Amino acid sequence: ALAERVEVALGERAYDILIGPGVLAETGERIAALGARTVGIVTDSNVAPLYLAGIERSLEAAGLAHASVLVPAGEASKRFSELERVVDALIAARVERGDVVLALGGGVVGDLAGFAGAVVRRGVRVVQAPTSLLAQVDSSVGGKTGINSPRGKNLIGAFHQPSLVLADTASLDTLPERELRAGYAEVAKYGLIDDEPFFAWLEANPRACFVEGPDRIRAIATSCRAKAAVVARDERETGDRALLNLGHTFGHALEADVAYDGARLIHGEGVAIGMAMAFRFSAALGLCAAAEAERVERHLKAVGLPTRAAEIPGGIGDAATLFGHMMQDKKVSRGKLTFILARGVGRSFVARDVMADDALGFLRGEL
Ligand code: NAD
Ligand code: ZN
Repeated sequence: ALAERVEVALGERAYDILIGPGVLAETGERIAALGARTVGIVTDSNVAPLYLAGIERSLEAAGLAHASVLVPAGEASKRFSELERVVDALIAARVERGDVVLALGGGVVGDLAGFAGAVVRRGVRVVQAPTSLLAQVDSSVGGKTGINSPRGKNLIGAFHQPSLVLADTASLDTLPERELRAGYAEVAKYGLIDDEPFFAWLEANPRACFVEGPDRIRAIATSCRAKAAVVARDERETGDRALLNLGHTFGHALEADVAYDGARLIHGEGVAIGMAMAFRFSAALGLCAAAEAERVERHLKAVGLPTRAAEIPGGIGDAATLFGHMMQDKKVSRGKLTFILARGVGRSFVARDVMADDALGFLRGEL
């Protein structure tokens, strides 16, 4: 009764996102309703001890056969050697065309298991059971799956939409506080992109995502609805799906600068600093009032997120170094760059003609 349902409208491939405390207990009946007989569970070494036994009970109660494969927790598992182990385990478990791969865990498991589901037997259905806030509001929805290359993150993968997403909000109670806060950056992002009333509601309810209850369900459902709408409009990211990258150009450059050392900076923290920077950059370019950038910074700070590169432990490189990282990510044509900028909270847009010199000048002022 407490759960919310959000639909991702993709015609014949439409699917539901179910959000609420305890939705994982329904895993068996929901997957049985998809017509599967065998479920290949992919999870990680942190999540398995917490949730695997409960999932197995639920599958058994629904009469489903199952097998599970564990990967070590952490980003390093998004690699070919783990993909190979996962695919082999799925085939050994006789996961066939009508069956289901269940991704139980954070975004790492979701991306890896989703990709395995896309390639095993040329594609089987995937059910995402995201257990981190980031995975519930972002990575489990939209069908991007994949692994990292030694040459860069997320360079190998496939679009493969899930058949169902089960976001159990109660599972967030075991998530480390730092991970919860980092995932929250993506929640705030949806308000900053195009939903000022949502951002204002988050400002008034800064604990919404941090404690179980109706506010958390509402915040996650609102985020999923926003992502679902973008995905339905632009499944393959040819157009305005790019807005989802608000804060990510600066954020990815910061992550690259610390060499993806999670002890110093995790993705959502980079996104928080990156969004604050995108608003300060917008203000510096005269696109939005300085008070808007201050508003963004105030809220992120209120929930304990960093907003300045100087807060990263150990500090980071100079403006030219950071600019260099940004260029890795980007096509520069005639000295012009694409950024997600804003005219205010909830008024973000894709700016395709940002002068490289302006960006470099801004970074000099920031660092
Ligand atoms: P993660 O999967 O590494 O999870 C973070 C940590 O929390 C891990 O140690 C994990 O074991 C642990 N954990 C997860 N759920 C838990 C729970 N309920 N209780 C206790 N511990 C728990 O990281 P993440 O932040 O969830 O996801 C990051 C990944 O998502 C990155 O690889 C990123 O590239 C990817 N991503 C993908 C998309 C997409 O569209 N596919 C979008 C954004 C991010
Ligand atoms: Zn992100």
